[in-house]
Amino acid sequence: MSAKSFSIAPVATVLIFFLMIQLSMQAPLNGSKWSYIGPDGEKAWPKKYPFCGGVFQSPIDFHKDILQYDSNLLPLEFIGYNVPSTDQFTLTNNGHSVKMYLSPTMYIRNLPFEYTASQLHLHWGNRNKSEGSEHTVSGKHFAAEMHIVHYNSEKYPDIAAAMDKADGLAVLAILLEIGPFNPSYEKIFRHFRNVKYKDQTVQVPGFNIRELLPDRLDEFYRYEGSLTTPPCYPSVLWTVFRHPVKISQEQLLALETAMYCTESDDPEPLEMVDNFRNVQEFRERLVFISFREGFVVSLVIVCVLGVLIVLAVAVWLLRRKSCKNEGKDNRGVIYKPGAYKEEDNISKP
Ligand SMILES: [Zn+2]
Repeated sequence: MSAKSFSIAPVATVLIFFLMIQLSMQAPLNGSKWSYIGPDGEKAWPKKYPFCGGVFQSPIDFHKDILQYDSNLLPLEFIGYNVPSTDQFTLTNNGHSVKMYLSPTMYIRNLPFEYTASQLHLHWGNRNKSEGSEHTVSGKHFAAEMHIVHYNSEKYPDIAAAMDKADGLAVLAILLEIGPFNPSYEKIFRHFRNVKYKDQTVQVPGFNIRELLPDRLDEFYRYEGSLTTPPCYPSVLWTVFRHPVKISQEQLLALETAMYCTESDDPEPLEMVDNFRNVQEFRERLVFISFREGFVVSLVIVCVLGVLIVLAVAVWLLRRKSCKNEGKDNRGVIYKPGAYKEEDNISKP
């Protein structure tokens, strides 16, 4: 009996998994749609896309209780990211975000598999509330967030085959905050006026996609999660860079105001704003980090400084004490040399 119940559980799990995939695949065929607001907003996603109500969901909040330093995490290597300007990327408005298809010659290394680039897209807030990042750090949103989506090209022929597999995708997340004008992001942003409405596309000359990443690539959060949009497959190995990239206030405003979710002839245009999913529960899981937490580092620095100060004071006190003692001895010594000299002189011939 125990052997029987042991074998049924995994079979049932697999069956439920396939049923969920089946339902998710059918959903778009049934004309289902999703959005970030209204009756098709994220609370309704699990009805049509069951994975959205399932496990390993993203985005999440990074807070110290779930972070664990892992010294084995290597910085990613970017191959083929410098795309010549003679090549072109297709930029499109898909009704949920602005998305740029990437070159299949771009891939990343230093993950369990090699992952080939597929597309990048952005998530943002609105002109009155520039808090549109998906991932948050200690509850704090950043202004916006860019995702560079890659698929496991060692195991799967294309992104469609990979996207519902547990080891199918690797997404890089870049947090954006306000700072100086960013000429690299402008290489995408300056085309927004050509993708104002859903299904519009424009060609963008190739450039070095590495320019869109932060300078510090060695510090990141790593965890297993999901797509942040329906069908929310739990198939993503996330790398969220710790250091945000800066874009100007004007560039952020362009992102927040340039596009619509609707087609150009729609009588009720819907602005493309607040296209981020709220953070998901993160229980019994860990986020691995490639850096020592600032708090721990500061604590160590404070402790070391404290010990050094105590040592310095102790040495100073000891020296002061020994100086006093030497002073006492010296008084005697000063007197004595005179006596010796006399004795010396006397003893000289
Ligand atoms: Zn995304």
